[in-house]
Amino acid sequence: MAKKLIHPSDPSPFALLPETEAAVHMAGITKVYGAGDGEVRALNGVNFTVHAHEYCAIMGPSGSGKSTLMNMIGCLDRPTDGIYELDGINVASLGEPDLATVRNRKIGFVFQQFHLLPHANAVENVMLPMIYAGVPAAERRDRAVAALTRVGLANRLNNRPNQLSGGQQQRVAIARAIVNQPVILLADEPTGALDSHTTEEVLELFAELNASGITIIIVTHEADVAARTQRTIWMRDGEVVEDGPSAPLRSHHHLP
Ligand code: ADP
Ligand code: MG
Repeated sequence: MAKKLIHPSDPSPFALLPETEAAVHMAGITKVYGAGDGEVRALNGVNFTVHAHEYCAIMGPSGSGKSTLMNMIGCLDRPTDGIYELDGINVASLGEPDLATVRNRKIGFVFQQFHLLPHANAVENVMLPMIYAGVPAAERRDRAVAALTRVGLANRLNNRPNQLSGGQQQRVAIARAIVNQPVILLADEPTGALDSHTTEEVLELFAELNASGITIIIVTHEADVAARTQRTIWMRDGEVVEDGPSAPLRSHHHLP
């Protein structure tokens, strides 16, 4: 079994929950799919805390549990066992529809494939989470326009996804993710479908959003994406095997 290099500030799963401003606190999180011979332990006792304003990457080989962990953090699924506190709320014990409410209010999602509504324009796509959140109709458009302006798309408000480049579509998705002012922005391979120039634009935007105070967690298999974050959590076989400062990018620009 791999030697564990756990971040020294990580709480033991047996410690009392610290009174911190943790955005995400997980202790002993386990997720088992199936039963009997078909049982898969996708997560096996995961412990970590992400504080408000942090910018983290989650890395690890295929099948190591990254997407399962994202689903837990994002309240898309519930753990089999363990403690999960999101912004101080014990979400492991919530049922639907409370889970759906927490998800809508506290999490912003960005996916590799954007997942925009094809027949809705940029403003309408960004307004959608506010409808679920019960934001008054008169406010929705103003807030959507403000979010799109923030991601640099003030001049593309009425374009549908097929009238936008991949990078622009991802920026619409980021505007949609931040418009409800979530506790965390969760991004699963957000640059996986983008070329290197557009990847750079999206990473600049994430850096700006983080600098303005948004907590961000990115799942990525790209070392140069992880290098832009402050902290990298490495997964293997459903466990955190390393957790610490992100490795800096070894850029060829700096070679002699
Ligand atoms: P990663 O995103 O790191 O590739 P996943 O979280 O998707 O890993 O998967 C972790 C493990 O859990 C894998 O062995 C995968 O086959 C298994 N797994 C994921 N989702 C399910 C599911 N819905 N049912 C059964 N097994 C699953
Ligand atoms: Mg995955």
